[in-house]
Amino acid sequence: MSDANIPVNEGQNGGSVTSFYPESIPPEPGHPTTANFEVVNTGDERGKGLRARVAFRRGERVARLSGVVVNRSSLDTIQISATLHMHDRWFCRLLLHSCEPNVVIDTAAMEAWAARDIQAGDHLSIDYAATEDVLGRQFACHCGSTRCRGWMTGRREGPNEEGRAWLAKNVVGHSSGRSEKR
Ligand SMILES: [Zn+2]
Repeated sequence: MSDANIPVNEGQNGGSVTSFYPESIPPEPGHPTTANFEVVNTGDERGKGLRARVAFRRGERVARLSGVVVNRSSLDTIQISATLHMHDRWFCRLLLHSCEPNVVIDTAAMEAWAARDIQAGDHLSIDYAATEDVLGRQFACHCGSTRCRGWMTGRREGPNEEGRAWLAKNVVGHSSGRSEKR
């Protein structure tokens, strides 16, 4: 077995299967590969996303995750403790946000699990607020879920100025808590 060809999931049709992680990341069984996932362009401001190429049952492990532990968050990191973040721009970075996601991340085990049944062709999504205290970039969510929270923040921060303006405009009954300027 070579470092470049990780003995994780069997390839389909004898085609070559490559890990999403570069050779600098020590290979482990279960790391995401091109046999199971493909990178797709969402065609909107979310940019690139991930689509499952195979089905996963609810409760099934989707992938073992890896990366580089850092002490600062960025758009390429996922928070794994109060002070530490895992830099993973190769796979986790590509997971889109949904307020009703089909993937959850166990940051203690560094594993992604199917929160519900996933069909081949489904986009993979996680709830950014499930792991992040503070988002690198707050944004208006259009996930389409009936439980959509609208304006996305981290779990330990309030909406920023743009978010307060968005909420005041889009959410009936929302009060920004500030008096209007004259
Ligand atoms: Zn949403």
